Amino acid sequence: MNNDFRDGGVRRVGQVKEVTSLSNPIIKDIKALSQKKSRDETKSFMAEGLKLVIDALELGWTIRTLIYSKAAKGKPAVEQVAVKTVASGGLVLEVSEKVLSSVTRRDNPQMVVGIFEQRWTALKAIRPQDGETYVALDRVRDPGNLGTIIRTADASGASGVILVGESTDPFSLETVRATMGSVFAVPLARATPEEFLSWKKTSGAQVVGTHLAGAVDYRTINYKKKPVVLLMGNEQSGLPEALAKEADALARIPQAGRADSLNLAVATAVMIFEARRHLLTLDAPA
Ligand code: SAM
Repeated sequence: MNNDFRDGGVRRVGQVKEVTSLSNPIIKDIKALSQKKSRDETKSFMAEGLKLVIDALELGWTIRTLIYSKAAKGKPAVEQVAVKTVASGGLVLEVSEKVLSSVTRRDNPQMVVGIFEQRWTALKAIRPQDGETYVALDRVRDPGNLGTIIRTADASGASGVILVGESTDPFSLETVRATMGSVFAVPLARATPEEFLSWKKTSGAQVVGTHLAGAVDYRTINYKKKPVVLLMGNEQSGLPEALAKEADALARIPQAGRADSLNLAVATAVMIFEARRHLLTLDAPA
């Protein structure tokens, strides 16, 4: 690194640490973040890639640890994020490729990894406004589906994703990877079904449930009259009756062919782009 991080060649304690051993206790703690228990206890998670780390810092996320490979040493963008990490009280680790592979469980790891504080939005703080769309997911199980939905929500300009019931962890490595960085852009809330239904009553939003037995063609719904919450069912069992009966409309996407249903992330994408169709134009700023 440059002189910001060294005093006459001597590393400043608490700034850049060089780690090559897999048995280093800091590395062990970071590797433990592959377990939900450890993510929950530390309220942190891992995101891979320099661009993601830069975006997250720009969006004001708190970085606890920055890890970069020796190969990334000296790159101006890496130095900039290292400076920011240190300035915000975080730790910077320069590690061997072997350590980075082990931390990310990949043969060809990204050169930069960030450990960030998790961020949850309280459901009661969400007050849907005109033109806003939220996605509520009932017990989403698959990390790839959740990551894809967060990315799609971001791309469509949706305002947040609400996880209803026991769900897969949005901060798992697999989900974060599938979001392609959108995990930093889309507010996430969680709720029990009861909390969700009680929030719905005062939210002022219309909840559009989606169901294979839905009576309404999803293209005929008026998505302009109120803010919209799209309520999507679990991958295996679909929306339970307790949630379905409280929806303001139960929409169905007409299907042909032999498939019983669409994949959850695909159905969410179809719904969200229809619900926001009147708000999206090619002229909108990227
Ligand atoms: N076996 C489940 C069932 O009977 O509902 C299939 C669930 S499907 C894989 C996951 C979710 O995607 C559904 O609960 C629903 O929210 C949505 N979905 C999939 N295909 C749909 C369609 N054609 N119309 C409306 N929603 C659909």
